Order: sequence, then structure tokens, then C-alpha cells
Amino acid sequence: MVAEHNSLEYAKKLDAQDPLAAYREKFFIPQVNGQDSIYFTGNSLGLQPKTVRDYIQQELDDWATFGVEGHFDAKNPWFSYHELLTPKAAKIVGALDSEVVITHSLTTNLHLLMVSFYRPTEQRFKIICEAKAFPSDQYALESQVKFHGFDPKEAIIEVGPREGEHHIRHEDILSAIETNADSLALVMFGGVNYYTGQLFDMKDITRATHDVGAIAGFDLAHAAGNVELYLHDWEVDFAAWCSYKYLNSGPGNVSGIFVHQKHENKPELPRFAGWWGYEKDTRFQMEAGFKPMKGAEGWQLSNAPVLGMAAHLASLDVFDEVGMKKLRAKSEQLTAYLEEIIQDISNRYQDQCSFEIITPKDKSQRGAQLSILAHGRGKAMFESLTKQGVIADWREPNVIRIAPVPLYNSFTDIYRFGECLEKAISEK
Ligand SMILES: *Cc1c(COP(=O)(O)O)cnc(C)c1O
Repeated sequence: MVAEHNSLEYAKKLDAQDPLAAYREKFFIPQVNGQDSIYFTGNSLGLQPKTVRDYIQQELDDWATFGVEGHFDAKNPWFSYHELLTPKAAKIVGALDSEVVITHSLTTNLHLLMVSFYRPTEQRFKIICEAKAFPSDQYALESQVKFHGFDPKEAIIEVGPREGEHHIRHEDILSAIETNADSLALVMFGGVNYYTGQLFDMKDITRATHDVGAIAGFDLAHAAGNVELYLHDWEVDFAAWCSYKYLNSGPGNVSGIFVHQKHENKPELPRFAGWWGYEKDTRFQMEAGFKPMKGAEGWQLSNAPVLGMAAHLASLDVFDEVGMKKLRAKSEQLTAYLEEIIQDISNRYQDQCSFEIITPKDKSQRGAQLSILAHGRGKAMFESLTKQGVIADWREPNVIRIAPVPLYNSFTDIYRFGECLEKAISEK
């Protein structure tokens, strides 16, 4: 029997009660077969806010009108353009304005931050990270370790799930920190793992890391704009994130940096410097000898890529209006509904296939994303979903990642996804 909640009427009722339902209209929804796709890949590339065009047009117009003078004469002077984004981004990650800057791209920022915060010695040189970290992070860590003359095999400790389990137990992260207490330099974790969707307890990981005298950094690519973050209060040392996943700012766009206030007045920290990190008041005297700006801005190398920043600003303005608390409340409800629908279908089709959700059940340990192992099914089922207008993500051998995003996905999207899934199973 079909579960009671697995009906169009019920999904529509939830949509009618959703205080954020109107936000869907503020985004372009990709079309498939002449109708709205079921877009569940906001964890890879968020959708375009309809306001983006105007924000970019403003800068194109000012460039046409002013040329170089736009640095000071544009409506939003380019010289300080990034400052418009700072307070909005800081709110999303729970930081003071001085702790955040938007600049460069994510992997670049991870490297720049590790130059300052991964400072291995003979005694302390190890990095603890999650197993199955995003590949770019794995390469970044490996190359940092080698750069300092250490052997990645010895220096990088990956904490993975136990045999037969899919996500990482918090106690196992803590015990890895304890075990390596004397040789640990850095704990560098994702906030939310890109593959399983597991949300880590960043506050407690940071506490445990500090207890053994090491530094705690996080890659928030899958966490920023997805879950509530309180980086300042948690005393995280540093973090970085991209703006194009849950933050909807367009392909390959700029990244955010967080450096905790406690590190803001340390000009002695080693860093790779560039002119945009130089003290603002005297930057254009162009004197020899680098004097970093106080706070996160001191990690900037280059002047801001304003066209990309404009798209990011458009998106941040939407977040600013809604706030993370409301977003997260809807997100928990959406993901729980998706889980319910998948469970219902899995129960009813168990002789043909079964779906195992490898994302934690506990909502405090996950964000928007569910990762589903499709036992007994291969890529053909996924291809059928795609043909029916579901945009999701397939990972070999048989994992489907789906992320209903509270700003633009509806409960009806989830109901329709369930219909497509049943059809895909029945097709054989
Ligand atoms: C998406 C993602 C990246 C991508 O890095 P770019 O430098 O923006 O290409 C890196 N790390 C993680 C964890 C990601 O999820």
C-alpha cells in the first residue's frame, strides 16, 4: 500500500504551508521536455537568481561609462567592491565581518590558508582529514605535505567509516585526534562530506583539535548556505568555501575565506602575499615591504573580479533576505519528506530493488543532501530518471546524490521525483 504522505495532495498542502514557497519564482528552473525539471543538483551548481543579470549589467554599464575611473566612480566602486559582500557572507557562516573576505577560488584559498596555518615541524606534521574527501582537497593536502618535505603516506591520516558502515563516527574522529596528539599539526575536514552528505560536528572537532594544540580548518563547499554555521563562536581557526553550490553564484565563481579574529593581528604569520592584501590606506604608495591588512582581507592577493562578484552579490542578497534559520528549517522538512518517499518506494518494491540511504538519519548530522545506494540497480535506472526530467548526480558504482534545496525546490518536486523513481524501477 502506498504511504499516506506519498500523494500529490499532501505535497501540495506542504507547499501551501511553506513560508518560502514564493522564492522558487526568483530563480530560473532548467526546462526538460517543456516543463520544469526536478532539479536536485543545487549541491553541485545552484540555480541562477533572476536578479543576477541586472547586477552584472550595472557593472558592464559602469565599465562602458567610466573605464578605469569605475574603480572609484562606479555606482559600487570596484576598489572596495568586495566589501559589499563581506557582511552578508559573514552572516551565512556565523562570523564577524573582519573575519571574512570573498576572493579567488576555493582550492586557491585552501592553499593560501594552509601556507599560513599548516606549519609542520619534525615533531608535529600530521594532518587529519576525512576519508573520501573531495578530490581537490586530497590533492591540495598531499601537495602541501610534499611541499614541506614530508611523506603524505605518513603525514595524512584519513578517518573513514568502520567496516560495513557508511558514515564516520564522531568518536572515531576524536580518537584519531587523541592518538596523534603529539604529532598533529592540522585537522582539515569538510563541513559536510560531498559524497555521503554527512554533516560533521565542527564545534567539537575544533575543541578536540585545540585540546591537543593543533589547528582546525574546514572546507565548507557543501556546508555554506546549506546548514547553520557559527565559525566565530566555535573558534574555528580558518575555513574556505565556494559560492556556486548552495550559494547559487554561477559556475566556477569566487570563494570565501574565514580567518578567526584571534589570528587577525599576526603579521608574523607566513603568507603568500599580493597587493590587495596590503594595508588599504597606503596600498597605492606601492612601497617595498608587505604590510598585511588586519583580518581576513590580509589574505587577498588580487583586486576583485567584479563581474563574478556581482553575481555573488545578487545571490547573497537573497540569502540576506531569508536568513539561514528559516532556510534550514525548510531544508530539514524537505529532506525528511524525500527520505519518507524513498523509504515508501523501497518498501513497496523490495523484491525488485532496494534503496539504502547512506546519509545519516539524524538531521543534526546532515544537510539538504541524501545519497542513495541503489542495490540491484545500475545506471539504466538513473538514465530513466534523467529522461523523465530529474537532474541528479550519479556516482559509480550505484550511488545517486540528490539535494532538494529550500530556496527553490518544492514538496511537489519531491512527490514528482517519487513518481519518476517508480516508473524507472518498473521499466526494467
Ligand atoms: C566543489 C568543491 C571544491 C571545488 O573547488 P574549486 O577550487 O572551486 O574548483 C573543492 N572542495 C570541495 C570539498 C568541494 O565540494
